[in-house]
Order: sequence, then C-alpha cells, then structure tokens
Amino acid sequence: MTKRVYNFYPGPATLPLPVLKKAQEELLDYKGTGMSVMELSHRSKEYGELHQEAVDLVKELMNLPDEYHVLWLQGGASTQFYMVPVNLKIDGKHMEYVNTGAWAKKAIKEAKLYGDVNIVASSEDENFSYIPKNIEFSDKASYAHITGNNTIYGTEYHEWPKTPDDVPLVCDMSSNIMDKVIDPKKFGVIYAGAQKNIGPAGVTLVIVREDLLGRVPENTPTMQKWKTHAEKNSLFNTPPCWAIYICKLSLEYNKSLGGVPALEKTNRKKAKILYDVIDKSDGFYKGHAKPDSRSLMNVTFNLQTPELEEKCVKEAAERGLIGLKGHRSVGGMRASIYNAMTLEGVETLAEFMKEFQEENQ
Ligand SMILES: *Cc1c(COP(=O)(O)O)cnc(C)c1O
Repeated sequence: MTKRVYNFYPGPATLPLPVLKKAQEELLDYKGTGMSVMELSHRSKEYGELHQEAVDLVKELMNLPDEYHVLWLQGGASTQFYMVPVNLKIDGKHMEYVNTGAWAKKAIKEAKLYGDVNIVASSEDENFSYIPKNIEFSDKASYAHITGNNTIYGTEYHEWPKTPDDVPLVCDMSSNIMDKVIDPKKFGVIYAGAQKNIGPAGVTLVIVREDLLGRVPENTPTMQKWKTHAEKNSLFNTPPCWAIYICKLSLEYNKSLGGVPALEKTNRKKAKILYDVIDKSDGFYKGHAKPDSRSLMNVTFNLQTPELEEKCVKEAAERGLIGLKGHRSVGGMRASIYNAMTLEGVETLAEFMKEFQEENQ
C-alpha cells in the first residue's frame, strides 16, 4: 500500500485521491491515444475536448451567466496582481483596494505601478485578524479589489461589499474559489491560482465579464491582455495542459459530490469541528481570526508558547498530520482545509488536538 498522509499544507495542497488515481490510470495512455496528456499536442482533438470540458465545468459549478469568460492562464495569481490594473484601469481614474493582508498588499504594490490607489479599508491595525465592515467604494474608481480569503491570517469575506454601478468588483479567490456558493453577478473579475482549491500549481483561473475585455489599451503586450486569451479560449499559445487536465478531473469529482452546495456543506462542517476544539479549549488554543471573519479554508491558531507550538506540529506530523506550521507573520499553527481535505482528515486532527491539550496543559 502506498502511504498517504493528511496534508494540511496551504498550497500546493491536497488533491482528492480519486483524482490522483484517475490521472495515474490514464498516465501512459490517455483515452487510447497511446500518449500521456503531457505529450498530447494542445491542438489535438483529445486535448481540445478536455480543455473545453474544464471550461464548461467551471461555468456549471459556479453558475456563471453567458457573459463571463473562463480563462486558464499562467504566472499564478501574482501575475494577475498586475494584469488587473493593466486590463481594467481607466485613464484619469484611480483604483480602490481593501487591505486584508499579505496578498492584498502585494496586489496593491503592483497596482501602484499603474496609477493612484486608494485603500478604502484595512485591518492592518489588528494584524489582519478581521475583515473590515461597511466597506464603501467610490463611483470614481476604475475598479474595486478585494482578497476573498486571507490564507495567512485565516480570515474570509462572508458577505461581499457592494460597489457602485460601473465599478466592477475584482476578487482574488485563490484560497477560497468554490468553497461556498456565490452569486457571480456581483463580480466583474474573479481570479485564483489553482493550487489551493481546484488543482495543481501551474495554472490560474481567471473569470472576466465580457464588457470588461474592451478596456485594455491597444498598445498593451498581446499576452497581457485578457482579451487575447478570451478570443482564443486560452489557446492563443500553449496552455499548461497537464495542470488544466488535473483541474478538469478535480472539477468533475467535485461535481460528482454534488457541486458547490455540497462542498459548502462539508466545508462548514469541517471548519466548525476545528473552531469548536479551539473555542472549547479554555484558552489552550487561541484562534487568530475574529469569530465573524473566520475562514472556512484556513484555520489559524496559537498555543501559549512557541516551544509548545513546535512540539504540537512535530507530534502531529508523527501521526501523519502534515503541514500545520503557521505562516511566520502570525506564527502558531494553521490547518488548511480546502475542498479536497476530507471530513475524516479534519476529525483526525480534532482528536489529536484534544489529546495534545490533555497531555500538555
Ligand atoms: C497563494 C495565494 C496567492 C499567490 O498565488 P500564486 O499562484 O503563487 O501567485 C495570491 N493570493 C492569495 C489569496 C493566495 O492565497
């Protein structure tokens, strides 16, 4: 038997076992071609079909209206940090951002290269432990940008801020894409590196509303225009075929489980199990995020001392619970429980945490 652990890494992250098995089964001979998907021409019929299926699955699972384009791009979410201003900034108009942590800051830094940026709300005053409330964007902005889930701090938007008409809401959903049902019509653009919630590293999902494709200045480099990729269905140049294939398998698997409503139900259950352990620990475990901003995807917490945290991470690893060390800017521990993390994995972690408390308090 191959050894598998419970993988709580923040990204790249765990993938569903049936997806890996299917990829293994098809590795040497994809659908009778005698080739791996890694070797297939991106212009072949077989690749073309799976590519389209991946696009269609995103549309179906996210309930996207027809006016939204699904793009599979490269360069990670970090490349979108500058592609967003390049494609959406309007001459003479500033850009608006909400600062909820390290990823938001990186996005802001890139936007500043293209013009004025207003930070309309921030939670930096309390080490990003909450999502600001009553966020207001001005009707003078080119667009409004938020970070849907803050992987490092374990905070997540549970309601979406409104934007004035004509100011599209742009959301970095790298660590919470498809974790819950959303109304896509609230967004002009959604982007997400695949490696946390929908697949492996190497591909970035970008969802853009049709009317926004026309904003980009003509003299922008071809590859930097979303329009280029939308017109060619992400086949303008060689796409990351293998990564898109694994995304397709994982989306198919999520569909078989009942789609995003079913994922949301399980995600809420998983998160509650861990937050309950924290809340009932009499302060042995201390959650970083304020309860009303808690993430369904990244559960962040501290113990009394760094020594105890180190011991906890080490003993968890001995039990096959891997990747629980927190990010250095928060310290402590972080359990990343993306869509592919099973309920069983979370229950095993919760049991371990209770035992660890009993033995160490
Ligand atoms: C991981 C992450 C990123 C960075 O993604 P890359 O694909 O590595 O560029 C950006 N934003 C958020 C919210 C993330 O969680």
